Order: sequence, then C-alpha cells, then structure tokens
Amino acid sequence: MRDLNELTRPNIVRLKPYSSARDEYKGKQATVFLDANENPYNAPFNRYPDPLQTELKERIAALKQVGTGHIFLGNGSDEAIDLVFRAFCEPGTDNVVAIDPTYGMYEVCAGINNVEYRKVRLDDNFQFDARHMLAVADRNTKVMFVCSPNNPTGNSLYRTEIEKLLSGFDGLVVVDEAYIDFSSEPSLTLQLERYPNLIVLQTFSKAWGCAAIRLGMAFASVPVISVFNKIKYPYNVNQLTQSEALNALSHPEQVSGWVDKLLLERARMILEFRSLSCCLKVYPTDANFFLARMTDATGIYNRLVDKGVIVRNRSHVTLCENCLRITVGTPEENNTLLEALRLEHK
Ligand code: PMP
Repeated sequence: MRDLNELTRPNIVRLKPYSSARDEYKGKQATVFLDANENPYNAPFNRYPDPLQTELKERIAALKQVGTGHIFLGNGSDEAIDLVFRAFCEPGTDNVVAIDPTYGMYEVCAGINNVEYRKVRLDDNFQFDARHMLAVADRNTKVMFVCSPNNPTGNSLYRTEIEKLLSGFDGLVVVDEAYIDFSSEPSLTLQLERYPNLIVLQTFSKAWGCAAIRLGMAFASVPVISVFNKIKYPYNVNQLTQSEALNALSHPEQVSGWVDKLLLERARMILEFRSLSCCLKVYPTDANFFLARMTDATGIYNRLVDKGVIVRNRSHVTLCENCLRITVGTPEENNTLLEALRLEHK
C-alpha cells in the first residue's frame, strides 16, 4: 500500500481539525459544564453527545472482535462513503474504480465530489475478476469499491478475487458488507490486520432493523479511521441514535431471530417466484432481497404500485434488464406480493 499521507488529499493532511468543547475535556469527574454554550435545562437533550461515541464503539468492538480504534461510526454508512471521497480523492484529478452494477451511492458521491468513477462490468454470474479492476486503475486511482453481498444482484463476490484486489492494489479497497448478516460468508473485518488498505462498511439499517436511526460503521486501520475522525462533523452521531443503538446491542438474540425468519421467508419466496408464470429467473442471493428476471418488469412494477405494493424496478441497471429487486418482508407482506403476481397473465 502507498503511504497513507500520499493517498490522502494534501489539504486534508495539512488540515488542523475543529476541536469541540467535548473533545478538549474528556474527564468524567466534573459536575459543572459551562464550556459548550449549552442550555443547563432540558436534560438529557441539552448536552452535546460524545463526539467519538466511546461507549457505543466499545460495545461494537466486543461484538465484532476488533479494537475500538478500528471503528468509525457515521450517519449511515452513506456518511462513510462520502468521507472516503472527501478524504482521499482530489476533485478533478483522482478517480475510483467500482464493480457495475452495484450500490448507487458510490457513483453519486463521486459525482458530488467531482471524482471520475470508472466502472468494471460484472460477468454473467455477477462475479468480478480482480485483474480487470487492476487493469483500469492508474496512478490517480485512490479507491476501489466492491460490495458483497452485492446490491442489487444479491450474491456474495468471490473472496479470492476480493483478496487479490486487497493485495494487488496500492490504494484503498472499500468492501461494503451492508448485507453480511444474511450471508454465511465470514466478514472481512477479521482481516483488518492483514490488509492495511481495507475499509469494511456495515450498517444498522438492515439485519439490525434500525434504518431510521441512521447508524453506519466503517472498520479500517487506525490511521485511516483517524483521517475520518479528522474531517467528520464534530457531533455526527446524535444522542438519540447512540442510545437506541446501545439498546439494540443489548438484544442481539432479537436480531438473529429476525435473520432466521427472513432467511426462511427468502427461501420460500424464491420457490414461489420460480413457479410464477411472470418470472423467468431468480438469481442466487446472500442478502435480505433477491433479484428476479420477469417477463415485463416495468409493466408488473406499475401494476404492483397501483395495488399499493412497492418493489424496486432495476430494469435500467447494467445486466439487470427486466429485473425486479424484491426485499423479503413479513410472511403477510410477501403473500400480498405473491397474490398480486399470481394475477399476472390471467
Ligand atoms: N451499502 C449498501 C450496499 C446498501 O444497499 C445501502 C442501503 N441501501 C447502504 C450501504 C446504505 O446504508 P445506510 O443506511 O447505513 O446508509
């Protein structure tokens, strides 16, 4: 890997970060806080939250078996994606390489930050070849993005190819594991020591059932996490979110119960879809959704909308012609979808 200071934008290397009142005073003994221009009334909401989310990181560190210094928490993993661009990619000069199709925010964040976005098309099995990714990279390529299990295809990418990228690329490799809790593949968080250029993204929005609280995680080397902390908003994860996440972390058995149920429903839905006359193919999935090739995805999508059932039309996405992406819901929600689809072609 290239020196991190060489990968980081020069203005960010030079930057003197903002130091908040709560950054400067970290002790726990004080009882009088007249340092942050807060209102003394309306506890507990009158106080700024912990800028580095220490307690939450300790709980996540124990769960994930990584040190707290390897964790960044943000306003969804979308915040971490944006910070990757703002920290490492010089607008108008640098570029990133990503698989295609994949999660749309990498390209949107590249556009917002005026960073060239190079796409490498997946093969017909929705897999990628590390050599193709490495071949489109040049000296100005700072970051590569892969997503496993991938969105919208649902499949896990071959671990051997991801590891070839990690060892063959001298910039940073983001592996987005938003859906890892639904997969039987092990997380790459266990490989952080081995690959200093690895950034793993995970989220509370999927298996943890907490999309509304906006909490995303990035796991990386201590120096990479320090760069994120240097440029993030001072209080980027609010107190309500920190408290609710601690609450969710106290009930991991609830999450594994949901995952078990969703995996059973996923298997049932795939079987049901295979028997539908309007469905041509269901692709293998390791996520809480699946991609299905339909006879007429847009027509079916519109008729479902009319019935108040919303799925994701991915027809215009690379390699996903005529495909709908179906999130696995409750048995009742899934049955409503199936009933509507059984009326197709009748
Ligand atoms: N990565 C992937 C692959 C996703 O599908 C999503 C959400 N659809 C995200 C990241 C964003 O997650 P968050 O809610 O944590 O911002």
